Amino acid sequence: MSISKLLSNILRSKGLDDDHIEALEESGITEKEDFKLIGDYQTLIDITGLEEEVSINVMTWAVGLPVVKEIQEEKSESSNSIIVESSDIVKCVHCDAKQPKDYKSGDLCLSCGNQAEPVQNCHWCLSSGPGKYCRSCGSEFVGSSDFEIALFLKREGESKSAIVSKVNEMTPLEKDNMWAKIRRSR
Ligand SMILES: [Zn+2]
Ligand SMILES: [Zn+2]
Repeated sequence: MSISKLLSNILRSKGLDDDHIEALEESGITEKEDFKLIGDYQTLIDITGLEEEVSINVMTWAVGLPVVKEIQEEKSESSNSIIVESSDIVKCVHCDAKQPKDYKSGDLCLSCGNQAEPVQNCHWCLSSGPGKYCRSCGSEFVGSSDFEIALFLKREGESKSAIVSKVNEMTPLEKDNMWAKIRRSR
């Protein structure tokens, strides 16, 4: 099985050379339908090692439009409308601006220039930093209202991973009881 003359001519017009076409054949591609099965240009790159640009050209021709981009945009739109406040969308604490998708903990807000997330204290190692996790010890931060409880659990000998899940699972009543214990222990 090999790529027909017509298909290879079309592929050449999309910027492929003999090596590219050979790579397609080696990965089992022989007809236009195969590109539909592949589905997006990234997968095409993954299985053939083609350059991104020609890969996009080919997939645009075979499947129509830059497929990956379109799907990603649809996904992000639909997920935004369903889960309005998805946990991975970070909003600036100062100006409420949504941070970009590639936002990393500690980045400054693109719209006001302040640190987008509040700085939290780590109940485990007592260092502080932005984000969901402590950069020094890796523990997840607990909310500031639960900080004392987390400290107390640590004194009680709970493990680093157990503390956060315990705190998150506690009912308000259990937290009240914890506070009573904390006050007695002072
Ligand atoms: Zn801001
Ligand atoms: Zn820590």
